[in-house]
Amino acid sequence: MRSVFDINTLIRDDLKTLIPYDAPAYPDIIRLADNENPYDFPAEVTNQIFQSIFSQDFNRYPDTNAVKLREKLSAYTGVAPENIMIGNGSDELILTVMLAFGAGAAFAVATPTFSMYGIHGRIALSRELKVPRLEDFSVDVKSLIKTAAKPEVKIVVICNPNSPTGNAVPLNIIEEILANTNAVVVVDEAYGEFGGETSTPLLTKYPNLVILRTFSKALSMAGMRVGYLLARGPVMTELLKAKPPYNINSFSQAAARAVIDNLPLFQERVRKILADREYLFSAMAGLPGIEVFPTETNFILFRTMLPSEKVYDGLLERGVLIRYLDDPALSRCLRVTVGTGRENEVFLKALDDILKSQI
Ligand SMILES: *Cc1c(COP(=O)(O)O)cnc(C)c1O
Repeated sequence: MRSVFDINTLIRDDLKTLIPYDAPAYPDIIRLADNENPYDFPAEVTNQIFQSIFSQDFNRYPDTNAVKLREKLSAYTGVAPENIMIGNGSDELILTVMLAFGAGAAFAVATPTFSMYGIHGRIALSRELKVPRLEDFSVDVKSLIKTAAKPEVKIVVICNPNSPTGNAVPLNIIEEILANTNAVVVVDEAYGEFGGETSTPLLTKYPNLVILRTFSKALSMAGMRVGYLLARGPVMTELLKAKPPYNINSFSQAAARAVIDNLPLFQERVRKILADREYLFSAMAGLPGIEVFPTETNFILFRTMLPSEKVYDGLLERGVLIRYLDDPALSRCLRVTVGTGRENEVFLKALDDILKSQI
C-alpha cells in the first residue's frame, strides 16, 4: 500500500543546500543589478520584428536548428553555421556543456566568477574545482593548468571579460591554457562587445575551444533569451546530443535576426555605454572610501569602507538596485551596471549620500 508521501525520500542529497536562483522584482526601481543594456530596442527594429512576425506560423514548432539565425551569425562571427549552436540564453548553453561533458566528472573554473557555472555544474552532477584568481583578479594560469590536468576534469571555464570583476584575460593566456589541456575550454564572452579580445581566431587551431556569447547584454535582448556557442565539429556533435529540441521560440529567433540586420544601431549604443562608464568610473573613484576596479565591461566592481549590506540597503532605500556579492574573495565589494546618464547620476548621488551619512 502507498504510504504517506514524504519528499525526503526523493530529495537529491547533493542538492539539499542548493538555493534556487532568484531575481527579486522591485517595481519602480532603477535596475543596475544584472548588467542589462539600459536602452530598449530602437523603434525601427521593433517594427521590423513585428513585420516578420505576421508571416510566422505560430501553430508550428520553431526551427529547432535556427538555420536563418545561424547564417546571419556566421557572417557576424566569421565562423561557419555548422559550428554555431543557439541557446535559450547562454545560460542554457552552460547547462548543455555541463550535461554533455561534465556529468559524473569535474570542471575547473577561475573564481570569483559568474555563479551559474557552479549551479549548472551541480545540477548536471559535475564537481566544481575552483581555481582562485590572483590578487588583481587575473587568472592563476599555472594553477588552472595543473587543476585541468587532473583526470576527472573534463571542462575548464574562463569568463572573459570576467563577471563580477570586470577584467579581461589576454588572448595569449587563453592560448597558453588551450595548449596545455585536452579538456573542453569554455570561454564565456557575454561581455565581449564591450571589451577584451575574442578567442574566435583560436578556434581553427584548438578543437577543444568552446566560446559562449549572448544577445542579452550589449545587444539589448535580455527579455528574449538568445545566446549562442561556437565550437568545432567533434565537440559540437556531443553538444547536440544534450541540446533540448525547439529551445528557441520563433519570436526570439526573429528578434535576434533583426538585431544582426541592424548591428550599427546597437554598436552606437555600446559606444555610448562605454563613454558613460568612463564618467561613472572617474566619479566613483573620486568618492571618499570607494575603491573602483578597472573594467572592460558595462559594469563596475567597487569596494567600500562600509559593510556592503549597508551600501546595498542604502541604495535600495533610495530607489537603486545594484548587485550584492557574497563571495568571501570579494569582501565589502558590490557591482553596479552602467545605466543611462540619468540613472548613473541618481546612483552617484545616492552613493555619495550614504557615504556622507556614515562619517
Ligand atoms: C549574463 C551572463 C550570461 C547569461 O546570459 P543569457 O544569455 O542571458 O543567459 C552568461 N555569462 C555571463 C558571464 C553573464 O554575465
